[in-house]
Amino acid sequence: MREKILEVKNVKKYFPIHAGLFKKPLQVKAVDDVSFTMYKGETLGLVGESGCGKSTLGRTIVRLYEPTAGQIIFKDQDISKWKSNKLKKLRQEMQLIFQDPYSSLNPRMNVSSIVGEALLAHKLVTKDEFKDRVTEIVEKCGLASYHINRYPHQFSGGQRQRIGVARALAMNPDFIVADEPVSALDVSVQSQVLNMMNGLKAEFGLSYLFISHDLSVVKHISDRIGVMYLGSLVELTGKRELYNNPLHPYTKALMLAIPEPNPKKIKKMEAVKGEIPSNINTPSGCKFHTRCPYMKDVCKEEVPEFREIEKDHYVACHFAGEI
Ligand code: SF4
Repeated sequence: MREKILEVKNVKKYFPIHAGLFKKPLQVKAVDDVSFTMYKGETLGLVGESGCGKSTLGRTIVRLYEPTAGQIIFKDQDISKWKSNKLKKLRQEMQLIFQDPYSSLNPRMNVSSIVGEALLAHKLVTKDEFKDRVTEIVEKCGLASYHINRYPHQFSGGQRQRIGVARALAMNPDFIVADEPVSALDVSVQSQVLNMMNGLKAEFGLSYLFISHDLSVVKHISDRIGVMYLGSLVELTGKRELYNNPLHPYTKALMLAIPEPNPKKIKKMEAVKGEIPSNINTPSGCKFHTRCPYMKDVCKEEVPEFREIEKDHYVACHFAGEI
């Protein structure tokens, strides 16, 4: 039986915004009632258009943000309301890899300090062990031992992201949220970094929540994939099942953006039309109804339940499996 590592239950993250002195307070519903489970050793890809809430969800899970509502159960403990002293311990087990390897590394710190800073802060090594441990970690991430005395500006984009991965790995975590970790890199370098992350996952028994706007990147690394739209999860299933049998109209539309060698496959799919609506005044009923080619009256009124349509295949659409 698969061992759960993370359960996200009805999590919401709303940000209040100032609307003016006499106006009703408004809020951005960045994450709006999301639930899913992750298992030990798996990579769950999270995809969706920019602004769909996937990065906010990742940051809420690692508790950089406090959830507005819902529960985050990590290794059987509800961490959703943990405060700073307990969160410090959590940082050892849950790490975040940032998108931009150019701005996420302090230019005044050398690799040794960047990778080893948290090791010393958390007293995970003695001063005598420090250099050997940092060298071991950077080598696992495909860098050389002599790199530890160099500074970020002396590295390429791909190497900088390797430093970012090494910094996360130094804490010996179980779970890593990787937020668009290769989107700032050239395509030729992307697969090298993804292969390295896959190798580290196998070697250290890691679980990844891998966030990307790019379905072809997510396809490369994920075991299962979740699709987000306007703060909600609209589809979740295994990688092959999602690519061979997408059931939500939004997922079908996203698939159109991927170059497809078999034209017969994409003929059946409808392109998504129109602009993504605001996540302040979200559409009623199904949030996708303003852009959905299959929309019917019920879609404007009733929120579709996120339900299991086929085994391990969850979809939030009133007509999933029929269209
Ligand atoms: Fe389209 Fe209706 Fe399904 Fe929403 S519930 S995706 S509007 S068919």
